[in-house]
Amino acid sequence: MKSDIEIAQETTLKPIHDIATDLSLSEEDWEPYGRTKAKLSTGLLEKLEEKPDGKIVLVTSINPTPAGEGKSTVTVGLGQALNKLNKKAIIALREPSLGPVMGLKGGAAGGGYAQVLPMEDINLHFTGDLHAITTANNALSALIDNHIHRGNNLQIDPRRVEWNRVLDMNDRALRQVVVGLGGPTKGVPREDAFSITVASEIMAVLCLAKDLHDLKRRLKKIVIGYTYDEKPVTVKDLDAEGALTVLLKDALKPNLVQTTENTPAIIHGGPFANIAHGCNSIIATKTAAKLGDYVVTEAGFGADLGAEKFLNIKSRAGGIQPSAVVIVATIRALKMHGGVGKNELTTENVEAIASGIENLKKHIETIESFGLPYVVAINKFPTDSQKEIDFLKEWCSTNKVEVALTDVWKNGGAGGVDLAEKVIKKAEEPAKNLEYTYNLHDPLEEKIRSVAQTIYGADDIVLSAKARSQLVFFENLGWGKLPVCMAKTQYALSNDPSQVGRPTGFTIHIRELRASVGAEFIVVLTGDVMTMPGLPQHPAALNMDVTEDGKIVGLF
Ligand code: ADP
Repeated sequence: MKSDIEIAQETTLKPIHDIATDLSLSEEDWEPYGRTKAKLSTGLLEKLEEKPDGKIVLVTSINPTPAGEGKSTVTVGLGQALNKLNKKAIIALREPSLGPVMGLKGGAAGGGYAQVLPMEDINLHFTGDLHAITTANNALSALIDNHIHRGNNLQIDPRRVEWNRVLDMNDRALRQVVVGLGGPTKGVPREDAFSITVASEIMAVLCLAKDLHDLKRRLKKIVIGYTYDEKPVTVKDLDAEGALTVLLKDALKPNLVQTTENTPAIIHGGPFANIAHGCNSIIATKTAAKLGDYVVTEAGFGADLGAEKFLNIKSRAGGIQPSAVVIVATIRALKMHGGVGKNELTTENVEAIASGIENLKKHIETIESFGLPYVVAINKFPTDSQKEIDFLKEWCSTNKVEVALTDVWKNGGAGGVDLAEKVIKKAEEPAKNLEYTYNLHDPLEEKIRSVAQTIYGADDIVLSAKARSQLVFFENLGWGKLPVCMAKTQYALSNDPSQVGRPTGFTIHIRELRASVGAEFIVVLTGDVMTMPGLPQHPAALNMDVTEDGKIVGLF
């Protein structure tokens, strides 16, 4: 099997003009960014308002192994398969971050014969959205430090500035820094930190904004820190929302590309799935729903994080309801949940699957708790044995769970036709109302408890003294009606990554809360959540190069 980049470079892409025309877009609806990428115009969604919505299919997974279980790959492959069945399908994905690209994970543009292209551009600088978000974030930092330096009218307490600088890179050396050193002309010294760009609240704001007006409304509300007497200071207090909107105006436009089989794909926004909500933008998802019969989209990590936040945060904010959910499971991850170490995952082990399957069962129950129809997709890896696959299919049949073996990585859309047929059947069932895990008017503590018990299967939550006093502080500031955005390990249902499978009898420890008032959620940290990852021993960056004729090699 060829590498992802070899497959990508052998694919003949249609000019983006043809993809846009196939979507019945007229010239003013989009602008080309080179030959194979385009941005959709700001007013397009409003223009399409009267059109009926296509069906939205949400792709999620069981708790993943560190390598990822192929959600993006299945998302792309399913879109391609739906097209084979003559459904006008559009894929809506997140934009990759350069940090993981240079670090250790594969790209975030799918894999094999189910990729979005041009994958080199998408994985690297693309249309500059992440750079724009980085710049807007850091412009705000510069304005904060300048305000403090120029007399600090707002009385911002430099020890309580919560707004971090960001960089789209894994750079552990910047996790904690001191800025303003060097005397009176260099500003006021204070502790600062760098996060990765996808952890910026501006990324979350951009992804949850309904339009340009809503973007500015949310930017205004961002709380950058507190005064000496602990009053919140906002972007509006600094008069910075205009400048930030200027910097973000083009980044707010969704990007149009295509897949290995020329299926249209809208790729836009990519918030972290731990300290943010981990889904692509509302504008992209809604635009795709207006342009296609089917939109296939995904949410980060497993259903306990990505799907929970897609449904409780994004769906609520955007009025988006999936018609069906695909739960991706892999043989290797089920073995991991059955207690198999990472070096043994390719050895046949049906007993381990039999015990690891409890993890899948919990995620099925989670999707059922939202009242949504679902199909389990077995993302087939070359190392899976027939016995293992048969066991999993048999379990699904005994438990009356619809399942489809998918091989889109190897065979493109043709490998996902069974899944597509089953998804269509589910999506065309009469829609039930989406049942949220909590009501917005519940107190914050109750919302956290509901997620912990219903989604993770925890007995209860335990709040640290800090989290408890923050709860009171936030409720008093009027932020108690916001949804909660849980930050938890993606590897397990509890907040202990070693508790694979389906742990029981555990409590979820709540360490700290953070207010993302512009994004309109309260981040709930259940453990040490890293907002600036580091590079591994052998970063993926060291495999990359450019040949004499300008071709990129070694990028996955
Ligand atoms: P996720 O979205 O769950 O993080 P991805 O779709 O990005 O996962 O896939 C992670 C990596 O695994 C990619 O490099 C992809 O090429 C590879 N991959 C996905 N599915 C398969 C498969 N069925 N067989 C082999 N490799 C796969």
